[in-house]
Amino acid sequence: GRLLMRLGELITREAEDLAQLESLDNGKPITQARADMVAAARYFEFYGSAADKVHGEVVPFQQGYDVKVVREPYGVTGHIIPWNYPAQMFGRTLAPALAMGNATVLKPAEEACLTTLRIAALAEEAGFPPGAINVVTGQGAVTGAALSESRGIDFISFTGSPEVGVLIQTAAARNFIGCTLELGGKSPQIVFDDADLDKALPTLVGAIVQNGGQTCSAGSRVLVHRGIWDELTAKLAERFGSLVAAPAMEDGSLGALISAKQKKRVEGFLSSADAPVIAQGRVAEGAPERGFYVAPTLFGPVDPKSPLGQDEVFGPVLSAIPFDDEDAAIRIANDTDYGLVAGIWTRDGDRQQRVAKAMRCGQVFINGYGAGGGIELPFGGIRRSGHGREKGFAALHEFSMIKTIVHNHG
Ligand code: ADP
Repeated sequence: GRLLMRLGELITREAEDLAQLESLDNGKPITQARADMVAAARYFEFYGSAADKVHGEVVPFQQGYDVKVVREPYGVTGHIIPWNYPAQMFGRTLAPALAMGNATVLKPAEEACLTTLRIAALAEEAGFPPGAINVVTGQGAVTGAALSESRGIDFISFTGSPEVGVLIQTAAARNFIGCTLELGGKSPQIVFDDADLDKALPTLVGAIVQNGGQTCSAGSRVLVHRGIWDELTAKLAERFGSLVAAPAMEDGSLGALISAKQKKRVEGFLSSADAPVIAQGRVAEGAPERGFYVAPTLFGPVDPKSPLGQDEVFGPVLSAIPFDDEDAAIRIANDTDYGLVAGIWTRDGDRQQRVAKAMRCGQVFINGYGAGGGIELPFGGIRRSGHGREKGFAALHEFSMIKTIVHNHG
């Protein structure tokens, strides 16, 4: 625990350098990268201070027996992370695994791995014993596959695409080990006609623009009660119109996307969209022509069954979908293959609870939304969004196994 907290301090000490490195590597605005380093450090603080607070249980059993249920590390845990938040992901997945006493092997994404290497070097400075934290860079299909298929790991945690998630789970099955998968989403924010629109607006926009929409928990669908459709879409349009994609150090609303491949993917959605464009931001003048910039775009009304209503774009594209009543809102919100996060905007307390319970996903926000943050909050999905829970104390349970020790002293 002390080592983890020390690493958190070192990340804080180096935060500005790390943020610059993350921005240069990933293309994200420097303000976002700075926030990422605060979160990365916080993971180590949180799990460092939790390391000695995971208790076992005593189970009442037959006369003459003492039974205790303890949590033990798996041994060696494998971790494969994506390129969207490398430093944060490093903290999110390694800190709880280490706190439970595992040794860890992490493979960062080939598109952005620099901060993970830098933080691994800081871990050495913090005093972690050799072998506790290993970072192995390489191509997914080579190094990632080798790690996931290795007989040397006892558990694997993966964050990335559903397609690769299937490969990871298959490899885990072959080795008879467990895995957690966090595979993205098509998360809805539902705005009812009694919502505080001024409070909701910055969050509705921020949840899709943050990190250029390249966030698993991006709020990529906004479900709008028909009674406020005109008003809300007009207000959203005004905000979207002022968004600027700019080079990382110019600190625009968003930066460049991660790669040519990702830009092509997002542009594919834009060119094949079968819904009207309500508003579009712009790419900053002077942004390099060959940069992977995409103007943020608001579509609506979007058919909930169409690709824009169903598929994860992983870019700055928001689909506005009208609904007529609460039942319809719930139906549309739940009707994708994903289920990660949902946001509910209403002042009606009964409705807040009803709709939160009806959401088929792992995390629900009422009159708010958190794409990414919230170290303390258990997080994860169902179906195509994956399974298992990260963050909070839940992650400590994921990265440990239960052993039941039965003592017959009768
Ligand atoms: P994206 O399409 O967003 O890049 P991926 O799922 O391809 O998402 O990548 C997420 C992580 O998975 C990266 O670290 C990548 O290198 C890794 N990866 C990709 N393919 C494989 C694979 N076949 N086996 C294991 N890891 C992989």
